[in-house]
Amino acid sequence: MLDLDPETRRALWAQLAEVAEAYWAQVLRLPVSPRWDPEGLRQELESHRFEQPLSPEAVLRWGVERLREHQVHTPHPRYFGLFNPAPTPMGVAAEFLVALFNPQLAAWTHSPFAVELERRLVRWFGAQFGWPEAESDGVFTSGGAEANHTALLLALCARFSEVGRVGLRALRAQPVLYVSEEAHHSLLKAAQVSGLGREAVRVVPVTETLQFDLEALARQIAQDRRQGLEPFLLVGTAGTTAAGVIDPLEALADLAQAEGLWYHVDAAWAGAVALVAEYRPWLKGVERADSITFDPHKWLSVPMGAGLCLSRHPEMLERAFRVPETYMPREAASWGVPDPFARSLQWSRRFVGLKVWFSLMSLGRQGYETAIRHMVAMGHRLRQGLCDRGWALQNATPLPLACVVDPAFAEDAAHHEAIVRELIGSGRAWVSTARLRGHHTVIRACITNYRTGPEDVDALLEALDAARHRVRLGR
Ligand SMILES: *Cc1c(COP(=O)(O)O)cnc(C)c1O
Repeated sequence: MLDLDPETRRALWAQLAEVAEAYWAQVLRLPVSPRWDPEGLRQELESHRFEQPLSPEAVLRWGVERLREHQVHTPHPRYFGLFNPAPTPMGVAAEFLVALFNPQLAAWTHSPFAVELERRLVRWFGAQFGWPEAESDGVFTSGGAEANHTALLLALCARFSEVGRVGLRALRAQPVLYVSEEAHHSLLKAAQVSGLGREAVRVVPVTETLQFDLEALARQIAQDRRQGLEPFLLVGTAGTTAAGVIDPLEALADLAQAEGLWYHVDAAWAGAVALVAEYRPWLKGVERADSITFDPHKWLSVPMGAGLCLSRHPEMLERAFRVPETYMPREAASWGVPDPFARSLQWSRRFVGLKVWFSLMSLGRQGYETAIRHMVAMGHRLRQGLCDRGWALQNATPLPLACVVDPAFAEDAAHHEAIVRELIGSGRAWVSTARLRGHHTVIRACITNYRTGPEDVDALLEALDAARHRVRLGR
């Protein structure tokens, strides 16, 4: 019924392999971004009524053509975008196997190999960030947003042990948390959907260097305490999304400790530098965090859908996520092994760890060190090239992310948006605009692809110059 006969299946797998290699080899020749045609796209999709089944071969060809035409090619070496990687080949292979074997990770007893592999990875990553392996705990998530949401819930349960049962309205005071204005907006969303409310998030200004303003933070905490609010969580960012800036993680740890706050570090992107010994000091202080967000689907370049919420408080995951139920397999309870459904927001759960494990196992730690060093070096080349060509750098970070403005029009948002539109329209490269401190518009270019080489950086510099030239002429 839903199956295919063996011959058709074999042909399908073979065709898949062909498609994969063709895309891999040819992506550089595609325009980085599509021409948008929402109407045409919708019409085409609506024209398929599913009344005439097509052959698997035709379906696959149809899908590949659409994917090729209608998406920003994040695996393109001239995509200088939003932390979306070119996936590792072994990561892609792992995703295929995961779909094929389709393990269910809700309960340990259904997928012992998968659950134990993820547990091992969680501890290994904890150790990379400087925690003792035995204390490291955590869960794989769909990404950084779910990881931040998870961390917020852990912090809340750590402070108010009964909150899961009695709810927020029974709390003795309104809980509040602290982020900088350059922190990721998923924390606002987490506060919104958890019922804390967005106003529970105290958004603290940043300094000239775009880092958490510690004095403003201390003032805000004191003021909130005077008003009878209950500070419970402080979030530092290692590698802000807009500017790639690392907060003063050590000083934030001191403050969290002095104030008795749960300390969360959002290292979704830049956490990867923990794998390289000479870059590890950039993250100094991260080892004092109570929880850490890290996204392997960013700098570790595994296919989308791989985040981690690490925590060094193992009991807190169960406190936050276990509910009474009657139908899950029981055997594991007496063995002291973890059941993921009782330790995370998800219930049925995909095997996320395999693509990370396969990539690490095949490339080795050294492979990643080499890739991360290469990307940092490309970042230096990019920064240098931009400055040489008269762009004014707006962020200070050793990470491969540059924010610039055209100095003659430094405060002119429309000018920079026009340059980016012009560049993207040319199909030669992809960059974005970002607003620093919520208002200062800059052009943002980030090295997100391990295949991006000097020639790609230089091509971006050329293309940016050309776009700036055309926009200036058009004024
Ligand atoms: C990307 C990012 C997130 C969100 O992660 P997703 O994987 O997109 O859900 C959170 N925090 C920071 C700092 C990020 O850069």
